[in-house]
Amino acid sequence: MKNSLQPEFKVIRSNRKSLAIELGHNSMKIRAPYQMSDAEISRFILAKKDWIREKQLLLSKKSPPKHQFVEGEKFLMYGEEYPLKFVEKQPFALKFDTKEFLLNSRDLHRAHILFKAWYINQAKFSFPKRVEDYASKYGFKYKTVRISDAARRWGSCSSSGSINLNWRLMRAIPEVIDYVIVHELAHTRHMDHSTKFWELVADVMPNYKTYRIWLKEHGYMLDFLAES
Ligand SMILES: [Zn+2]
Repeated sequence: MKNSLQPEFKVIRSNRKSLAIELGHNSMKIRAPYQMSDAEISRFILAKKDWIREKQLLLSKKSPPKHQFVEGEKFLMYGEEYPLKFVEKQPFALKFDTKEFLLNSRDLHRAHILFKAWYINQAKFSFPKRVEDYASKYGFKYKTVRISDAARRWGSCSSSGSINLNWRLMRAIPEVIDYVIVHELAHTRHMDHSTKFWELVADVMPNYKTYRIWLKEHGYMLDFLAES
């Protein structure tokens, strides 16, 4: 196919009645019935090509930044971008010196893992204190704060009051982190998303909607993938 956005596609046949297209960031799967011919499948894809192109454009816009771990490349922390710099000898494989990220050259092959571990450590260090500040100021009771790794879930709160916060939030502006914290703390009083719940969120953070919308629209940017 002469469409640059069209990735290679894979046909998966099964005992089904109709065709279906599954689009990923960089993949396309066609689910087809056993008896359907290749020509029929091709005709179907051709007929759907505008729809496919549109969806792929949308997906490509919404994919998280792909890092290559080259010198000068920017990395997010608290919504600010800091450049990566290679160094020869330092006691830690990856260090942040308030202006840039310093990476030992010999650890380049595991930079992706190091960055993730670094964000997780920072989150462990800073999120519990942020939760505690809000809880004591507004009288919320919770049990524990844990750092989670669920790809598309920013936070959660169990019925026993255990709060989970995603390490990827370390890459967002502080207000977005605070919104997720306030949201989860509000769940310690209302376990649903009822009007009462949102009123409580608004009491603590009157402009929470801005950050809620930001997370919905730009949250994918908080994730990062390694260029492979
Ligand atoms: Zn919620």
